[in-house]
This record gives sequence, structure tokens and C-alpha cells, in this order.
Amino acid sequence: MKDSNFLKEHNAKSLWHPMAHPGDSLANPPAIITSAQGVKITDVDGHEVVDAVGGLWNVNLGFSCQPVKDAIAAQLDVLPYYSTFRGTTNDQVIQLAEELRKFFAPDGLTRAFFTSGGSDSVETALRLARQYHKIRGEAGRTKFLSLKKGYHGTHMGGASVNGNANFRTQYEPLLPGCHHIPAPYAYRNPFNETDPARLAQFCLQALEDEIAFQGAGTIAAFIMEPVLGAGGVIPPHSSFMPGVREICTKHGILLIADEVITAFGRTGSWTGSRHWGVQPDMMCTAKAITNGYFPFGAVMIADRMTEVFEKDTTGKAAIGHGYTYSGHPVGAAAALACLEETLRLNVPENAAARGTQIHEGLLALQQKYELIGDVRGGHGLMSAVELVSDRTTKAAADKASTGRLQEAAYKAGAMVRVSGPNIILSPPLVLSEAEAATILSALDAGLAAAG
Ligand code: PLP
Repeated sequence: MKDSNFLKEHNAKSLWHPMAHPGDSLANPPAIITSAQGVKITDVDGHEVVDAVGGLWNVNLGFSCQPVKDAIAAQLDVLPYYSTFRGTTNDQVIQLAEELRKFFAPDGLTRAFFTSGGSDSVETALRLARQYHKIRGEAGRTKFLSLKKGYHGTHMGGASVNGNANFRTQYEPLLPGCHHIPAPYAYRNPFNETDPARLAQFCLQALEDEIAFQGAGTIAAFIMEPVLGAGGVIPPHSSFMPGVREICTKHGILLIADEVITAFGRTGSWTGSRHWGVQPDMMCTAKAITNGYFPFGAVMIADRMTEVFEKDTTGKAAIGHGYTYSGHPVGAAAALACLEETLRLNVPENAAARGTQIHEGLLALQQKYELIGDVRGGHGLMSAVELVSDRTTKAAADKASTGRLQEAAYKAGAMVRVSGPNIILSPPLVLSEAEAATILSALDAGLAAAG
């Protein structure tokens, strides 16, 4: 392996990082991770920490899942690639679709369309939503509604339904006909409402109002994350997603659950939709479907839609969409092994227990540090603390203090993610009690350094 200085210099010279300023890499070199075991990662200087980011919300089973590695290696020997475009398929993807059909049956989802990742899954769902309405003779339903603070990847469609200006402004004009309603974010919202149940009702009313304003017959779908993730881990009140479902059904609007983060156990339930007792019309998945061992995703589709597509005799239902790597056999083999391990280990149970431990730990840290304005989580292993320079005005903490926090936490044993004023925790779901405690004590050290 090349030495640390060589790697840092060439990282800055030779590559651009997602979600980073290209001119910033030399002054602020990223951690160069060179190996990982269990839930721990080691950098080029030999420093080992608990990965409280879980790769990027995706390495739910940790980095040493032997059955997944074996499945990938075995599949590479037998069939490293074959396409699923019309006319061919492969044995692995068929088996995977069947296992996913069983897994997602309680969500009412019975067909899979495979992709190479989360952004692809979102793009697929948006396109299938429009096509569904066209097949049914409602070609005017082309618009999409979504939540402010929502994150739906970076393709043009996904960016258009994203609800965060950082991912939009420099790329406008985006897709026309995408409109956003306020998120059920109790710490800051236009209604000045701190009670989550009442806030949910305000947001649902905003959805009704927007539908009336746009005209229900112009709207194809509403897309939402069951728990907003990248926007700062914002779990809604339990009435919110069921309320959205009811409104969508009433107006003939499809509900797309973007579960790129939440599917496969992260919320402490098998899916985020199930967590809230909702059956969406489509569900976007990626990330933990292969735990980061292979780029892969799937959109799961409900009977209500599959019947319309499969019974079409006009030809309109022919799918003019797909990716070279849709149903990649190595990805499918990896996903089959991940699903088996996810079920065998009953990961939601541990996610719920460790999630509670971390949430309680964060609330205790909030008592200790004025810097913590808000603590969010309590639904499995996705948590955030929002840092403020003043609790009364809720002015966001500056970049220097979040930077100090991240650096000190890293030195003290945990990689945490900084996103604006939020510190986000999304560790592997196989985290032990002791490893969760390490994350909390490292964060404690980080907060002490940041203040
Ligand atoms: N949707 C959600 C909810 C996500 O959190 C992400 C990524 O974090 C995406 C979509 C995009 O996924 P990908 O980065 O795999 O394209």
C-alpha cells in the first residue's frame, strides 16, 4: 500500500468527492479507510474506530459478513454478469425476486424491478408512477409531491423531489411539476408547532391544500421517507404516514415509500412502512439490500399497480426503462445472502435495543451540553443531534465547531457523520452494547472539544 502522504496528496489531485467542494480536499483531507472488521474501520495511519455511520447507512451487517463474501466469490466464478433486458435473465435474480416477494408480502409488495442503487430506484419509481397513470388513461397525472428536507438521491428526478436547497440550486432548472410540503420537523417548522401529533395534522392539511391547489388529477405520486434520513433524521408522529396514505388513496395519488435507508431493519421494524402500519404502492430500496458489498437496489411494486401493467393489452405497459446492471447476478447473489443473514440475525430486534440505548445516551448528553439543541431518533439505529450556538434563538452551530466535534470523536473512537449542523449516527445494526457505549463516549469527547 502507498504511504499516507502519497494517498492524501493524490486523493486531492486525482478525484472529486460526492457532496464536497473539489478545492477543499488538500486542506481538509478525508479519512482514508484501508480496512474494516466487524463494525470497526481502520485508516491509513492504523487508527481503528467504531463506524457510527455504518458505511453510508448501508453496512447493516458489518464489514465481516462471511456468507455474503462467499456468495459473491462463488457467483463470480459461475456467472459474473448477464443482463435481464427483454430476452434473457439469470437464475440468481429470479431467486432473489422470489425471496423479496416473501419478505415484502406484509407491505403488500409483490414484484421487484432491480436497479444499481438508491438514486436509480427513485428514478424508476417516479417513471413507473407516470406510466401507471398513462396506462389507465390519466395521462394528466404527471406531477410529484414530496417533503421539504426529504432526500431522494441525485438523479434529475430524485433531485427534483429532494427538499433541500443544497442538492438543487446549482442544478436548476429541475423537473417541472415537483412541489414540496413542510416536513413534520418539530424543532423548526412554519407552524411554530412543537407537539408532534398536532404538527402531523398541520402537515397533512398542507398536503391536502397542495393537492387542491395543483388539482388532484395532475398528481402522479407522493414520495416520502418513512423517517427522513439525510435531512437530519426526522421521525414523524405515528399518525403522519398513515394520514398521507389515506389522503393519497382518496385522491388516486400513488404513495412511494423511499426506503433506501429504512428497509431491512434500520428503524427497528423490517421496513419503515411497516413501522408505521402503512402499505405503499411502491417502495424504493438499495443500501442494506447488499450491505455495501455490491451496488444494487430494487423497487418493490404493489398489486394495485402490477395488475394494471400486466393486464395491459395496448402496449403502453412495455417498460422503456432499466439499467445494464438491473438484476446483476453477483448483486443478486449478494442480496440473497444478505437477506438470509438479516433474517437469521433478526436485526430489527438489535436495532431497536441499541437504538434506545443511543437515544437515551444522546438525551443525557443534551443535559450536559448547551450545544445540543435537538435530539432526534428513538426509532431504531438512526439518530441525530442538531447543534446550535444558542438554544433560545436556535442559531445553527458554526462549521468550525462541528468540525472540531467530528475530529475529537474520531480520535476518541468513533466515526460520526456531520451534515450541516447535524451529527448523524447510523451504525451497523449488529452493533453490540459495548460498541454503542463507545460511540456515546466518543461523542461526549467530541462535544467537549466543540464547545
Ligand atoms: N433515497 C434515500 C432516502 C437515500 O437516503 C439515498 C442515499 O442516501 C438515496 C435515495 C440515493 O441512494 P444512492 O446514493 O444509492 O443513489
